[in-house]
Amino acid sequence: MEQPSPADCMGLTETPRLAVIGAGFTGSLTATQLLRNATKPFDLLLLERRPPFGSGTAFATSLPCHLLNVPVSRMSAIAGEPDHLLRWLANGGSPEPSLASESAYLPRQVYGAYVEHTLRAAAESSCARLVRMVGEAVSIDAAEQGARIRLRDGTSIEARCVVLAIGNPPPSDPLGEVSPPSSRRYVGDPWDPAALDGLEPGDPVLTIGSNLTMVDIALALEYRSHRGPIVAVSTHGLLPHPHEENLPPAWEPRVGGQALTPRRLIQAMREEVSAAAKAGVGWRSVVDSMRPKTGLIWASWPDRERRRFLRHARPYWEVHRHRMAPENARTIAALRRSGQLRVEAGRIVGAREGRSSIEVRVIRRGSAAPQTFDVSRVVNCTGPEMQYRLSRDPLVRDLLARGLARPGPLGLGFDAGERGALIGADGRPSTVLFTLGPPLKGLFWETTAVPEIREQAASLAALLGPRFSSPEPLSPEL
Ligand SMILES: Cc1cc2nc3c(=O)[nH]c(=O)nc-3n(C[C@H](O)[C@H](O)[C@H](O)COP(=O)(O)OP(=O)(O)OC[C@H]3O[C@@H](n4cnc5c(N)ncnc54)[C@H](O)[C@@H]3O)c2cc1C
Repeated sequence: MEQPSPADCMGLTETPRLAVIGAGFTGSLTATQLLRNATKPFDLLLLERRPPFGSGTAFATSLPCHLLNVPVSRMSAIAGEPDHLLRWLANGGSPEPSLASESAYLPRQVYGAYVEHTLRAAAESSCARLVRMVGEAVSIDAAEQGARIRLRDGTSIEARCVVLAIGNPPPSDPLGEVSPPSSRRYVGDPWDPAALDGLEPGDPVLTIGSNLTMVDIALALEYRSHRGPIVAVSTHGLLPHPHEENLPPAWEPRVGGQALTPRRLIQAMREEVSAAAKAGVGWRSVVDSMRPKTGLIWASWPDRERRRFLRHARPYWEVHRHRMAPENARTIAALRRSGQLRVEAGRIVGAREGRSSIEVRVIRRGSAAPQTFDVSRVVNCTGPEMQYRLSRDPLVRDLLARGLARPGPLGLGFDAGERGALIGADGRPSTVLFTLGPPLKGLFWETTAVPEIREQAASLAALLGPRFSSPEPLSPEL
Protein backbone atom coordinates (compact mmCIF):
# COMPACT_ATOMS: atom_id res chain seq x y z
CA MET A 1 0.00 0.00 0.00
CA GLU A 2 1.13 3.52 -0.73
CA GLN A 3 2.70 5.72 1.93
CA PRO A 4 2.92 9.10 0.20
CA SER A 5 4.46 12.23 1.55
CA PRO A 6 1.93 15.00 2.12
CA ALA A 7 3.36 16.78 -0.93
CA ASP A 8 2.16 13.94 -3.14
CA CYS A 9 -1.34 14.71 -2.04
CA MET A 10 -1.36 18.39 -2.90
CA GLY A 11 -2.73 19.81 -6.08
CA LEU A 12 -5.48 18.55 -8.32
CA THR A 13 -5.24 15.05 -9.61
CA GLU A 14 -6.70 13.36 -12.64
CA THR A 15 -8.07 10.62 -10.46
CA PRO A 16 -10.92 11.62 -8.16
CA ARG A 17 -10.11 11.33 -4.52
CA LEU A 18 -12.20 10.47 -1.51
CA ALA A 19 -10.65 11.14 1.89
CA VAL A 20 -11.50 9.33 5.09
CA ILE A 21 -10.23 11.09 8.22
CA GLY A 22 -9.54 8.62 11.03
CA ALA A 23 -8.47 5.00 10.64
CA GLY A 24 -10.01 3.44 13.71
CA PHE A 25 -12.70 0.81 13.22
CA THR A 26 -15.13 3.26 11.58
CA GLY A 27 -12.75 4.81 9.06
CA SER A 28 -11.10 1.51 8.21
CA LEU A 29 -14.44 -0.18 7.69
CA THR A 30 -15.81 2.62 5.56
CA ALA A 31 -12.65 2.43 3.45
CA THR A 32 -13.00 -1.36 3.25
CA GLN A 33 -16.57 -1.10 1.99
CA LEU A 34 -15.66 1.57 -0.57
CA LEU A 35 -12.74 -0.53 -1.84
CA ARG A 36 -14.90 -3.62 -2.07
CA ASN A 37 -17.62 -1.78 -4.02
CA ALA A 38 -15.30 0.10 -6.41
CA THR A 39 -16.04 -0.41 -10.10
CA LYS A 40 -13.65 2.25 -11.47
CA PRO A 41 -10.27 3.49 -10.27
CA PHE A 42 -10.17 6.28 -7.70
CA ASP A 43 -7.86 7.24 -4.87
CA LEU A 44 -9.07 6.51 -1.39
CA LEU A 45 -7.02 8.43 1.11
CA LEU A 46 -7.09 7.16 4.68
CA LEU A 47 -5.64 9.71 7.04
CA GLU A 48 -4.67 8.79 10.60
CA ARG A 49 -2.85 10.92 13.14
CA ARG A 50 -1.88 8.02 15.43
CA PRO A 51 -1.11 4.76 13.63
CA PRO A 52 -1.56 1.79 13.59
CA PHE A 53 -4.35 1.79 11.01
CA GLY A 54 -7.39 -0.28 11.91
CA SER A 55 -7.17 -0.26 15.71
CA GLY A 56 -8.37 3.14 16.87
CA THR A 57 -8.77 3.74 20.58
CA ALA A 58 -10.76 0.58 21.21
CA PHE A 59 -8.49 -2.05 19.72
CA ALA A 60 -5.00 -0.58 20.10
CA THR A 61 -4.41 -2.02 23.57
CA SER A 62 -1.56 -4.53 23.69
CA LEU A 63 -2.78 -6.20 26.89
CA PRO A 64 -4.19 -9.70 26.35
CA CYS A 65 -6.53 -9.20 29.34
CA HIS A 66 -8.40 -6.44 27.50
CA LEU A 67 -11.14 -8.47 25.88
CA LEU A 68 -13.97 -7.49 23.57
CA ASN A 69 -17.25 -7.04 25.38
CA VAL A 70 -19.22 -8.68 22.57
CA PRO A 71 -18.79 -12.32 21.50
CA VAL A 72 -17.31 -13.35 18.15
CA SER A 73 -20.75 -14.22 16.76
CA ARG A 74 -21.73 -10.51 16.79
CA MET A 75 -18.44 -8.89 15.88
CA SER A 76 -18.15 -9.47 12.13
CA ALA A 77 -16.92 -6.23 10.57
CA ILE A 78 -18.86 -6.81 7.38
CA ALA A 79 -22.59 -6.12 7.20
CA GLY A 80 -24.46 -9.08 5.75
CA GLU A 81 -21.58 -11.53 6.42
CA PRO A 82 -22.14 -12.61 10.03
CA ASP A 83 -19.45 -15.30 9.97
CA HIS A 84 -16.74 -13.11 8.40
CA LEU A 85 -14.79 -12.83 11.68
CA LEU A 86 -15.23 -16.48 12.55
CA ARG A 87 -13.87 -17.48 9.12
CA TRP A 88 -10.85 -15.21 9.56
CA LEU A 89 -10.16 -16.75 12.98
CA ALA A 90 -10.55 -20.29 11.68
CA ASN A 91 -8.34 -19.57 8.65
CA GLY A 92 -5.28 -18.65 10.66
CA GLY A 93 -6.19 -15.24 12.09
CA SER A 94 -6.54 -16.62 15.61
CA PRO A 95 -3.43 -16.91 17.77
CA GLU A 96 -5.20 -19.73 19.68
CA PRO A 97 -7.58 -22.32 18.20
CA SER A 98 -10.03 -21.91 21.11
CA LEU A 99 -10.74 -18.32 20.02
CA ALA A 100 -12.24 -19.48 16.73
CA SER A 101 -15.60 -19.95 18.41
CA GLU A 102 -18.86 -18.02 18.21
CA SER A 103 -19.00 -17.58 21.98
CA ALA A 104 -15.37 -16.48 22.45
CA TYR A 105 -14.46 -12.98 23.65
CA LEU A 106 -11.34 -12.01 21.73
CA PRO A 107 -8.45 -9.96 23.03
CA ARG A 108 -9.12 -6.54 21.53
CA GLN A 109 -5.67 -6.49 19.97
CA VAL A 110 -6.59 -9.57 17.90
CA TYR A 111 -9.71 -7.76 16.72
CA GLY A 112 -7.59 -4.77 15.66
CA ALA A 113 -5.46 -7.15 13.57
CA TYR A 114 -8.65 -8.50 11.99
CA VAL A 115 -9.82 -5.00 11.02
CA GLU A 116 -6.41 -4.22 9.55
CA HIS A 117 -6.37 -7.51 7.66
CA THR A 118 -9.87 -6.88 6.29
CA LEU A 119 -8.81 -3.46 5.04
CA ARG A 120 -5.62 -4.82 3.45
CA ALA A 121 -7.49 -7.66 1.74
CA ALA A 122 -10.05 -5.21 0.33
CA ALA A 123 -7.28 -2.94 -0.98
CA GLU A 124 -5.44 -5.81 -2.64
CA SER A 125 -8.43 -6.88 -4.68
CA SER A 126 -9.88 -3.44 -5.46
CA CYS A 127 -9.61 -1.37 -8.61
CA ALA A 128 -9.47 1.70 -6.36
CA ARG A 129 -6.16 2.65 -4.76
CA LEU A 130 -5.85 2.84 -0.98
CA VAL A 131 -3.42 5.54 0.11
CA ARG A 132 -2.61 5.45 3.81
CA MET A 133 -1.27 8.64 5.21
CA VAL A 134 -0.11 9.65 8.67
CA GLY A 135 -1.17 13.16 9.63
CA GLU A 136 -3.76 15.15 11.54
CA ALA A 137 -6.51 17.10 9.81
CA VAL A 138 -6.98 20.40 11.63
CA SER A 139 -9.32 22.28 9.33
CA ILE A 140 -11.47 21.86 6.23
CA ASP A 141 -12.62 24.25 3.52
CA ALA A 142 -15.57 22.89 1.61
CA ALA A 143 -17.47 24.00 -1.47
CA GLU A 144 -20.07 22.19 -3.58
CA GLN A 145 -17.55 20.23 -5.60
CA GLY A 146 -15.04 19.20 -3.01
CA ALA A 147 -12.96 20.07 0.00
CA ARG A 148 -9.46 21.06 1.01
CA ILE A 149 -8.20 19.43 4.18
CA ARG A 150 -5.42 21.21 6.03
CA LEU A 151 -3.04 19.16 8.11
CA ARG A 152 -1.22 20.07 11.30
CA ASP A 153 2.10 20.16 9.41
CA GLY A 154 0.79 22.98 7.19
CA THR A 155 0.23 20.91 4.04
CA SER A 156 -3.16 20.32 2.48
CA ILE A 157 -5.05 17.68 0.54
CA GLU A 158 -7.96 17.99 -1.84
CA ALA A 159 -10.79 15.54 -2.10
CA ARG A 160 -14.18 15.36 -3.71
CA CYS A 161 -15.78 13.88 -0.59
CA VAL A 162 -14.58 13.70 2.99
CA VAL A 163 -15.73 11.18 5.57
CA LEU A 164 -15.13 12.21 9.17
CA ALA A 165 -14.49 9.00 11.08
CA ILE A 166 -12.99 10.85 14.02
CA GLY A 167 -14.36 8.51 16.68
CA ASN A 168 -14.22 8.68 20.43
CA PRO A 169 -12.67 11.82 21.91
CA PRO A 170 -10.98 11.64 25.32
CA PRO A 171 -13.09 12.46 28.38
CA SER A 172 -13.36 15.99 29.67
CA ASP A 173 -11.79 16.78 33.02
CA PRO A 174 -14.36 16.07 35.76
CA LEU A 175 -12.17 17.61 38.46
CA GLY A 176 -12.31 21.01 36.85
CA GLU A 177 -10.10 23.32 38.80
CA VAL A 178 -9.77 21.20 41.91
CA SER A 179 -6.82 19.28 40.52
CA PRO A 180 -4.49 20.61 37.89
CA PRO A 181 -4.85 18.33 34.84
CA SER A 182 -1.14 18.94 34.34
CA SER A 183 -0.33 16.88 37.44
CA ARG A 184 1.57 13.77 36.49
CA ARG A 185 -0.52 11.87 39.02
CA TYR A 186 -3.71 12.73 37.16
CA VAL A 187 -4.38 10.78 33.96
CA GLY A 188 -6.88 12.64 31.81
CA ASP A 189 -6.86 10.12 28.96
CA PRO A 190 -7.42 6.58 30.28
CA TRP A 191 -6.49 5.14 26.87
CA ASP A 192 -3.00 6.62 27.00
CA PRO A 193 -0.67 3.57 26.93
CA ALA A 194 1.45 5.34 29.58
CA ALA A 195 -1.53 5.85 31.95
CA LEU A 196 -0.10 3.56 34.65
CA ASP A 197 3.60 4.11 34.05
CA GLY A 198 5.73 4.84 37.08
CA LEU A 199 3.34 3.29 39.61
CA GLU A 200 4.91 1.20 42.39
CA PRO A 201 3.16 -2.17 42.97
CA GLY A 202 1.65 -1.05 46.27
CA ASP A 203 0.49 2.42 45.19
CA PRO A 204 -3.17 3.31 45.72
CA VAL A 205 -5.12 4.25 42.58
CA LEU A 206 -8.48 6.02 42.26
CA THR A 207 -10.63 5.95 39.16
CA ILE A 208 -13.33 8.50 38.46
CA GLY A 209 -16.07 6.30 37.03
CA SER A 210 -16.85 2.63 37.54
CA ASN A 211 -17.86 1.53 34.06
CA LEU A 212 -16.01 -0.44 31.38
CA THR A 213 -13.10 2.03 31.23
CA MET A 214 -12.53 1.51 34.96
CA VAL A 215 -12.69 -2.24 34.33
CA ASP A 216 -9.92 -1.80 31.73
CA ILE A 217 -7.76 0.06 34.26
CA ALA A 218 -8.38 -2.50 37.03
CA LEU A 219 -7.57 -5.35 34.61
CA ALA A 220 -4.38 -3.62 33.48
CA LEU A 221 -3.32 -3.16 37.11
CA GLU A 222 -4.07 -6.80 37.90
CA TYR A 223 -2.14 -7.86 34.78
CA ARG A 224 0.94 -6.07 36.04
CA SER A 225 0.54 -7.71 39.50
CA HIS A 226 -0.40 -4.48 41.20
CA ARG A 227 -1.10 -5.01 44.90
CA GLY A 228 -2.18 -1.54 45.95
CA PRO A 229 -5.81 -0.60 46.59
CA ILE A 230 -8.02 0.53 43.72
CA VAL A 231 -11.02 2.74 44.51
CA ALA A 232 -13.59 3.37 41.79
CA VAL A 233 -15.82 6.37 42.53
CA SER A 234 -18.97 7.06 40.54
CA THR A 235 -22.26 8.79 41.24
CA HIS A 236 -24.27 5.57 41.45
CA GLY A 237 -21.47 3.11 42.26
CA LEU A 238 -22.70 0.70 39.59
CA LEU A 239 -20.49 -1.85 37.87
CA PRO A 240 -21.22 -3.33 34.42
CA HIS A 241 -22.96 -6.69 34.59
CA PRO A 242 -21.15 -9.76 33.26
CA HIS A 243 -22.10 -11.60 30.11
CA GLU A 244 -23.27 -15.17 30.57
CA GLU A 245 -20.73 -17.90 29.90
CA ASN A 246 -22.85 -19.26 27.06
CA LEU A 247 -24.54 -17.25 24.35
CA PRO A 248 -28.04 -16.38 25.57
CA PRO A 249 -30.98 -17.38 23.37
CA ALA A 250 -32.39 -14.73 21.04
CA TRP A 251 -35.59 -12.98 22.17
CA GLU A 252 -38.18 -11.46 19.88
CA PRO A 253 -38.99 -8.09 21.49
CA ARG A 254 -42.61 -7.12 21.95
CA VAL A 255 -41.80 -3.59 23.09
CA GLY A 256 -42.48 -1.45 20.02
CA GLY A 257 -40.80 1.58 21.46
CA GLN A 258 -41.32 4.63 19.33
CA ALA A 259 -44.47 5.92 21.04
CA LEU A 260 -43.09 5.30 24.53
CA THR A 261 -41.64 7.84 26.91
CA PRO A 262 -38.40 6.78 28.66
CA ARG A 263 -40.36 5.99 31.81
CA ARG A 264 -42.88 3.84 29.90
CA LEU A 265 -40.10 2.18 27.97
CA ILE A 266 -38.29 1.06 31.11
CA GLN A 267 -41.59 -0.15 32.58
CA ALA A 268 -42.39 -2.07 29.39
CA MET A 269 -38.94 -3.62 29.42
CA ARG A 270 -39.37 -4.73 33.03
CA GLU A 271 -42.63 -6.41 32.05
CA GLU A 272 -40.91 -8.03 29.13
CA VAL A 273 -38.08 -9.30 31.35
CA SER A 274 -40.72 -10.96 33.58
CA ALA A 275 -42.42 -12.51 30.56
CA ALA A 276 -39.08 -13.75 29.23
CA ALA A 277 -38.17 -15.23 32.63
CA LYS A 278 -41.41 -17.26 32.54
CA ALA A 279 -40.26 -18.62 29.18
CA GLY A 280 -36.86 -19.48 30.68
CA VAL A 281 -35.06 -16.58 28.92
CA GLY A 282 -32.85 -14.19 30.89
CA TRP A 283 -32.88 -10.37 30.98
CA ARG A 284 -29.76 -10.15 28.81
CA SER A 285 -31.66 -11.48 25.81
CA VAL A 286 -34.37 -8.85 26.31
CA VAL A 287 -31.85 -6.01 26.56
CA ASP A 288 -30.00 -7.27 23.48
CA SER A 289 -33.25 -7.63 21.55
CA MET A 290 -33.91 -3.89 21.97
CA ARG A 291 -30.64 -2.93 20.37
CA PRO A 292 -31.77 -2.57 16.75
CA LYS A 293 -34.67 -0.42 17.96
CA THR A 294 -32.79 1.89 20.31
CA GLY A 295 -31.71 4.34 17.61
CA LEU A 296 -35.27 4.77 16.34
CA ILE A 297 -36.66 5.16 19.83
CA TRP A 298 -34.03 7.78 20.73
CA ALA A 299 -34.65 9.62 17.45
CA SER A 300 -38.39 9.69 18.12
CA TRP A 301 -37.99 11.42 21.51
CA PRO A 302 -38.04 15.18 21.87
CA ASP A 303 -35.01 16.62 23.66
CA ARG A 304 -36.99 16.83 26.89
CA GLU A 305 -37.48 13.04 26.95
CA ARG A 306 -33.89 12.38 25.89
CA ARG A 307 -32.70 14.47 28.83
CA ARG A 308 -34.99 12.53 31.14
CA PHE A 309 -33.52 9.27 29.89
CA LEU A 310 -29.98 10.53 30.46
CA ARG A 311 -30.77 11.82 33.93
CA HIS A 312 -32.71 8.89 35.31
CA ALA A 313 -32.20 5.75 33.23
CA ARG A 314 -28.80 6.04 31.64
CA PRO A 315 -26.62 4.70 34.49
CA TYR A 316 -28.81 1.60 34.76
CA TRP A 317 -29.12 1.21 31.00
CA GLU A 318 -25.34 1.39 30.54
CA VAL A 319 -24.48 -1.35 33.05
CA HIS A 320 -27.07 -3.74 31.61
CA ARG A 321 -26.36 -2.96 27.99
CA HIS A 322 -22.51 -2.75 28.00
CA ARG A 323 -21.42 -5.88 29.79
CA MET A 324 -18.09 -7.44 30.75
CA ALA A 325 -16.68 -10.55 29.11
CA PRO A 326 -17.13 -13.46 31.55
CA GLU A 327 -13.38 -13.89 32.09
CA ASN A 328 -12.93 -10.20 32.85
CA ALA A 329 -15.95 -10.30 35.19
CA ARG A 330 -14.31 -13.13 37.15
CA THR A 331 -11.13 -11.10 37.58
CA ILE A 332 -13.09 -8.05 38.73
CA ALA A 333 -15.12 -10.18 41.18
CA ALA A 334 -11.90 -11.65 42.61
CA LEU A 335 -10.40 -8.16 43.03
CA ARG A 336 -13.52 -7.08 44.91
CA ARG A 337 -13.62 -10.21 47.07
CA SER A 338 -10.04 -9.68 48.13
CA GLY A 339 -10.86 -6.08 49.02
CA GLN A 340 -8.29 -4.71 46.58
CA LEU A 341 -10.99 -3.10 44.43
CA ARG A 342 -13.68 -1.00 46.11
CA VAL A 343 -16.52 0.64 44.27
CA GLU A 344 -17.88 3.74 46.00
CA ALA A 345 -21.08 5.60 45.16
CA GLY A 346 -20.35 9.24 45.75
CA ARG A 347 -19.37 12.64 44.52
CA ILE A 348 -15.88 14.05 44.28
CA VAL A 349 -15.89 17.43 46.00
CA GLY A 350 -12.23 18.27 45.98
CA ALA A 351 -8.75 17.17 45.06
CA ARG A 352 -5.43 18.56 46.15
CA GLU A 353 -2.00 17.57 45.02
CA GLY A 354 0.45 16.92 47.81
CA ARG A 355 4.16 16.18 47.65
CA SER A 356 3.78 12.48 46.97
CA SER A 357 0.07 11.92 46.35
CA ILE A 358 -3.27 13.41 45.41
CA GLU A 359 -5.86 13.76 48.15
CA VAL A 360 -9.31 13.23 46.72
CA ARG A 361 -12.32 14.18 48.85
CA VAL A 362 -15.47 12.20 48.23
CA ILE A 363 -18.93 12.56 49.75
CA ARG A 364 -20.32 9.06 49.72
CA ARG A 365 -24.00 8.50 49.02
CA GLY A 366 -26.00 8.75 52.20
CA SER A 367 -23.21 10.49 54.09
CA ALA A 368 -22.66 14.18 54.77
CA ALA A 369 -18.99 14.26 55.68
CA PRO A 370 -16.37 13.90 52.97
CA GLN A 371 -13.93 11.03 53.09
CA THR A 372 -10.38 11.57 51.87
CA PHE A 373 -8.56 9.11 49.63
CA ASP A 374 -4.83 9.64 49.48
CA VAL A 375 -3.73 8.09 46.18
CA SER A 376 -0.74 7.98 43.86
CA ARG A 377 -2.74 8.11 40.63
CA VAL A 378 -6.16 9.36 39.61
CA VAL A 379 -7.47 8.02 36.31
CA ASN A 380 -10.35 9.74 34.55
CA CYS A 381 -12.69 6.93 33.43
CA THR A 382 -15.76 9.06 32.74
CA GLY A 383 -16.03 8.17 29.04
CA PRO A 384 -15.69 10.14 25.81
CA GLU A 385 -16.76 13.80 25.98
CA MET A 386 -19.30 14.01 23.18
CA GLN A 387 -20.41 17.61 23.88
CA TYR A 388 -18.76 19.06 20.81
CA ARG A 389 -19.09 22.65 22.02
CA LEU A 390 -16.65 21.69 24.80
CA SER A 391 -14.31 19.92 22.39
CA ARG A 392 -10.63 20.82 22.36
CA ASP A 393 -10.15 18.97 19.06
CA PRO A 394 -8.96 21.49 16.45
CA LEU A 395 -10.89 19.87 13.59
CA VAL A 396 -14.19 19.76 15.49
CA ARG A 397 -13.73 23.37 16.61
CA ASP A 398 -12.85 24.44 13.07
CA LEU A 399 -15.90 22.78 11.50
CA LEU A 400 -18.23 24.36 14.06
CA ALA A 401 -16.56 27.77 13.77
CA ARG A 402 -16.84 27.76 9.97
CA GLY A 403 -20.47 26.68 10.15
CA LEU A 404 -19.74 23.56 8.12
CA ALA A 405 -21.15 21.54 10.99
CA ARG A 406 -23.41 22.15 13.95
CA PRO A 407 -23.82 20.12 17.14
CA GLY A 408 -26.30 17.26 17.20
CA PRO A 409 -29.32 16.89 19.52
CA LEU A 410 -28.51 17.81 23.14
CA GLY A 411 -25.20 19.14 21.82
CA LEU A 412 -23.87 15.61 21.36
CA GLY A 413 -21.64 15.00 18.34
CA PHE A 414 -22.57 16.48 14.97
CA ASP A 415 -25.96 17.02 13.43
CA ALA A 416 -26.35 15.09 10.20
CA GLY A 417 -28.90 14.26 7.55
CA GLU A 418 -29.49 11.04 5.75
CA ARG A 419 -26.55 8.65 5.82
CA GLY A 420 -24.40 11.02 7.81
CA ALA A 421 -24.32 14.12 5.54
CA LEU A 422 -23.09 16.89 7.88
CA ILE A 423 -25.65 19.60 8.50
CA GLY A 424 -24.10 23.04 8.60
CA ALA A 425 -25.08 26.16 10.51
CA ASP A 426 -27.40 27.04 7.59
CA GLY A 427 -29.39 23.85 8.21
CA ARG A 428 -28.48 22.32 4.85
CA PRO A 429 -26.97 18.85 4.53
CA SER A 430 -23.56 18.82 2.88
CA THR A 431 -22.94 17.02 -0.40
CA VAL A 432 -19.22 16.76 0.42
CA LEU A 433 -18.78 16.14 4.16
CA PHE A 434 -20.09 13.02 5.85
CA THR A 435 -19.72 11.37 9.21
CA LEU A 436 -20.64 8.15 10.99
CA GLY A 437 -20.08 6.24 14.19
CA PRO A 438 -19.55 8.06 17.52
CA PRO A 439 -20.08 11.62 16.12
CA LEU A 440 -23.74 10.62 15.49
CA LYS A 441 -24.30 9.99 19.22
CA GLY A 442 -26.83 12.82 19.54
CA LEU A 443 -28.89 11.53 16.62
CA PHE A 444 -28.93 7.81 17.39
CA TRP A 445 -27.42 7.29 20.87
CA GLU A 446 -26.51 3.68 19.97
CA THR A 447 -23.91 4.42 17.35
CA THR A 448 -20.59 3.62 18.95
CA ALA A 449 -20.33 -0.17 18.76
CA VAL A 450 -19.34 -2.49 15.95
CA PRO A 451 -22.85 -3.83 15.09
CA GLU A 452 -24.18 -0.31 14.46
CA ILE A 453 -21.06 1.09 12.81
CA ARG A 454 -20.70 -1.75 10.29
CA GLU A 455 -24.23 -1.07 9.01
CA GLN A 456 -23.56 2.67 8.77
CA ALA A 457 -20.27 2.06 6.94
CA ALA A 458 -21.96 -0.20 4.38
CA SER A 459 -24.75 2.31 3.87
CA LEU A 460 -22.43 5.32 3.46
CA ALA A 461 -20.17 3.40 1.06
CA ALA A 462 -23.23 2.49 -1.03
CA LEU A 463 -24.11 6.19 -1.24
CA LEU A 464 -20.64 7.53 -2.02
CA GLY A 465 -19.26 4.70 -4.17
CA PRO A 466 -21.31 5.49 -7.32
CA ARG A 467 -20.03 9.10 -7.27
CA PHE A 468 -16.58 7.74 -8.00
CA SER A 469 -17.69 5.74 -11.01
CA SER A 470 -17.81 8.77 -13.34
CA PRO A 471 -14.81 11.01 -12.76
CA GLU A 472 -15.27 14.75 -13.08
CA PRO A 473 -12.56 17.32 -12.37
CA LEU A 474 -12.49 18.95 -8.97
CA SER A 475 -13.62 22.51 -8.53
CA PRO A 476 -10.83 24.85 -9.70
CA GLU A 477 -11.39 27.23 -6.75
CA LEU A 478 -10.28 24.59 -4.29
C1 LIG B 1 -11.88 0.94 25.03
C2 LIG B 1 -13.03 0.59 24.13
C3 LIG B 1 -13.42 -0.73 23.97
C4 LIG B 1 -14.48 -1.07 23.12
N1 LIG B 1 -14.84 -2.37 22.98
C5 LIG B 1 -15.85 -2.69 22.15
C6 LIG B 1 -16.26 -4.06 21.96
O1 LIG B 1 -15.74 -4.95 22.59
N2 LIG B 1 -17.27 -4.31 21.08
C7 LIG B 1 -17.89 -3.31 20.39
O2 LIG B 1 -18.80 -3.58 19.59
N3 LIG B 1 -17.53 -2.04 20.56
C8 LIG B 1 -16.54 -1.72 21.42
N4 LIG B 1 -16.19 -0.41 21.59
C9 LIG B 1 -16.95 0.59 20.87
C10 LIG B 1 -16.52 0.70 19.39
O3 LIG B 1 -15.89 -0.42 18.91
C11 LIG B 1 -15.73 1.90 19.18
O4 LIG B 1 -16.55 2.99 19.52
C12 LIG B 1 -15.29 1.98 17.72
O5 LIG B 1 -14.20 1.14 17.56
C13 LIG B 1 -15.09 3.39 17.33
O6 LIG B 1 -14.26 3.43 16.23
P1 LIG B 1 -13.94 4.81 15.57
O7 LIG B 1 -13.03 4.52 14.44
O8 LIG B 1 -15.19 5.54 15.28
O9 LIG B 1 -13.24 5.65 16.71
P2 LIG B 1 -11.77 5.62 17.29
O10 LIG B 1 -11.40 4.27 17.71
O11 LIG B 1 -11.74 6.71 18.31
O12 LIG B 1 -10.88 6.01 16.04
C14 LIG B 1 -10.88 7.29 15.48
C15 LIG B 1 -9.54 7.48 14.84
O13 LIG B 1 -9.53 8.72 14.18
C16 LIG B 1 -8.29 9.35 14.38
N5 LIG B 1 -8.52 10.78 14.23
C17 LIG B 1 -9.41 11.55 14.92
N6 LIG B 1 -9.34 12.81 14.50
C18 LIG B 1 -8.40 12.85 13.53
C19 LIG B 1 -7.88 13.91 12.73
N7 LIG B 1 -8.33 15.15 12.86
N8 LIG B 1 -6.92 13.62 11.82
C20 LIG B 1 -6.46 12.34 11.69
N9 LIG B 1 -6.91 11.30 12.45
C21 LIG B 1 -7.87 11.57 13.35
C22 LIG B 1 -7.90 8.96 15.80
O14 LIG B 1 -6.50 9.06 15.99
C23 LIG B 1 -8.41 7.52 15.86
O15 LIG B 1 -7.43 6.57 15.50
C24 LIG B 1 -15.15 -0.06 22.42
C25 LIG B 1 -14.75 1.27 22.59
C26 LIG B 1 -13.71 1.60 23.42
C27 LIG B 1 -13.31 3.05 23.56
